[in-house]
Amino acid sequence: MKLLEGKTIAEEIKASLKKDINNFNQQPVLASVRLGDNSSVESYVRAQQKCAQELGIDYKLKSLSTQTTQEQLIESIIEFNRNKNINGIIIQLPLPEHIDVRGIYLAVSPGKDVESMHPENLGKLFFPQETIAPCTATAVMELLKSINFKLYGKEVVVVGHSMILGKPLSIMLLNNYATTTVCHIATYKAEHLIEHIKQADVLVVAVGKANFIKQDWVKKDAVVIDVGINSLNGKITGDVDFESVSKKASFITPVPGGVGPLTSAILMRNLVRLAKRK
Ligand code: NAP
Repeated sequence: MKLLEGKTIAEEIKASLKKDINNFNQQPVLASVRLGDNSSVESYVRAQQKCAQELGIDYKLKSLSTQTTQEQLIESIIEFNRNKNINGIIIQLPLPEHIDVRGIYLAVSPGKDVESMHPENLGKLFFPQETIAPCTATAVMELLKSINFKLYGKEVVVVGHSMILGKPLSIMLLNNYATTTVCHIATYKAEHLIEHIKQADVLVVAVGKANFIKQDWVKKDAVVIDVGINSLNGKITGDVDFESVSKKASFITPVPGGVGPLTSAILMRNLVRLAKRK
């Protein structure tokens, strides 16, 4: 088994971004908005702030109360859209239940949509040459590229069909001729999840349940990419039972240190690309 560490690739991306940013006349600005005090949001924001600081990106955080209404949140986004100094806007998830996340993504100007979540940008995934794409899904593709994994004709199973990961990743995988299966809660309830996972040459998991994927579900020598970030007994844990699955996988991402650091670096790369377009 080999560890598939996002940290190393993230460092390479950041080194190249630093050079770009040094040549800018103006410091790139990333506006970030969050509602309430969720602990996972806290850790994402901290990681992004650290990454931005390292690169010389101005990270402007707007913290709003959990009671903020849909309309108030959209007003804040419109302010960011109008502010000529801001290059990109990120909405921290999860948002409180009374907020319709689709309406929020629609409010972000497509030219400042650093997460590539506006339908106008998501639609461009159908054109494989697009350079800005959802960050976590792109991180998964970068990890596969780093081990020179040839997706053509391979069985790839993605567990989780969220807007930020499973759905965009499925298109990226198809663009690379992988035979792509996306599983979700209905697959699990129909008791078909394990049979799909057993076929996977590449298994990508993003369900948000600690140690959910067990060793005997995984094909020998599979590449296992664990997107999950869970807090279990005060420790950060992925969705894959790392101890046992690592004995069977050819490559596996650690949590922390796998997909997470790469996601932050790709977020900053998207920002720099948007700033260059401007
Ligand atoms: P999400 O929106 O909650 O999606 C979870 C997905 O898992 C849903 O599609 C859900 O299906 C599916 N699911 C839940 N239980 C399942 C089961 N028993 N069997 C099969 N599918 C099941 O979460 P997300 O935003 O994609 O995030 C997932 C995890 O990744 C979280 O731990 C999050 O913290 C982490 N994350 C990490 C990064 C990173 O950079 N490493 C970035 C983003 C998120 P239904 O919707 O149909 O119920």
